[in-house]
Amino acid sequence: MKPYFLLILLILFAVQPVVTAQNTTPAAAPAKPKVHPVRFVYYAGMRYILLPDIARYYRLSVRYHKTGVILYSKMRRLEMSYKKREGAINGFRVYFLAPVLYLDKRAYISENDFLKVIDPIFRARLQKKHPVRTIMIDPGHGGSDPGAPGPILREKQINLLVALKLKRALEHLGFKVIMTRERDIFPSLSARSALCAQRKPDLFISIHCNSAGNKRVNGVETFLVTPPRAASTADKTPRVTSYPGNLSDRNNARLAYEIQTGILKFTNAGDRGIRHARFAVLRGATCPAVLIECGFLSNLEEGRKLAMNEYQNRLVAGIISGIARYAYAVR
Ligand SMILES: [Zn+2]
Repeated sequence: MKPYFLLILLILFAVQPVVTAQNTTPAAAPAKPKVHPVRFVYYAGMRYILLPDIARYYRLSVRYHKTGVILYSKMRRLEMSYKKREGAINGFRVYFLAPVLYLDKRAYISENDFLKVIDPIFRARLQKKHPVRTIMIDPGHGGSDPGAPGPILREKQINLLVALKLKRALEHLGFKVIMTRERDIFPSLSARSALCAQRKPDLFISIHCNSAGNKRVNGVETFLVTPPRAASTADKTPRVTSYPGNLSDRNNARLAYEIQTGILKFTNAGDRGIRHARFAVLRGATCPAVLIECGFLSNLEEGRKLAMNEYQNRLVAGIISGIARYAYAVR
């Protein structure tokens, strides 16, 4: 049997537990493996999976409380709420696609959240493997579009400084890097997506800084494109539309998780969470893609930090550790 064929078989077996939680490995399986079917319901046009079935699949204990539920083991932790989409995975803030559904004394998790947020983050290795050799870095804004104003530097300047540092560090590690801009110019959003489609990088990383009316708001956010039939974090209405970026939904989630947690570990910045948005560059990306909001320029303290060489180096170290962990999961 050719090794290639064996690989396909392995992938098929690896895919199987998503629909039929099966605890034994194929090689060790008895003649009639014990298969637990995953139970689900349809609610408001969406499919929801029975929460205890998800807990059993990952061998997690379940604790129900007043406002939500915690699924946990020594290795993993999932916190979700009945009313809010805000929750956490392994202690890091995540905005899920739907709250936990409580129906007839039973709790359910949306299939979208299970397949496109929770499972890709919990899984040791992702099913959709690909080499990580070429990385496209997209410093947001530029030229006529300054982005958010800041206390020392504007957004377009910080985005470019961080992106160029990231480029140098990645090249030093042997990655090939393609930039959507290397100076103070503004390539249109469609031109950035077109470049991605044309040069076919393995990852697309957009660098931005945030701004808010409330000057106290601070911290890091990492965005991935919203899956079809789900609502973006800043929105309540689900949309059916699918974009090129949605071909990487599962890998996007893992990339966002590794980069967000990497940045938090290296910077000690506030955790504003993994969020979903249909941003143009994320919709149009032809490979796994994230958009990082490195911090709030509207916050005086964070705005000053973001302009500092030393803090930018920390951001870059965090992004690189995230890319390395992602690359390990898709090897
Ligand atoms: Zn921006």
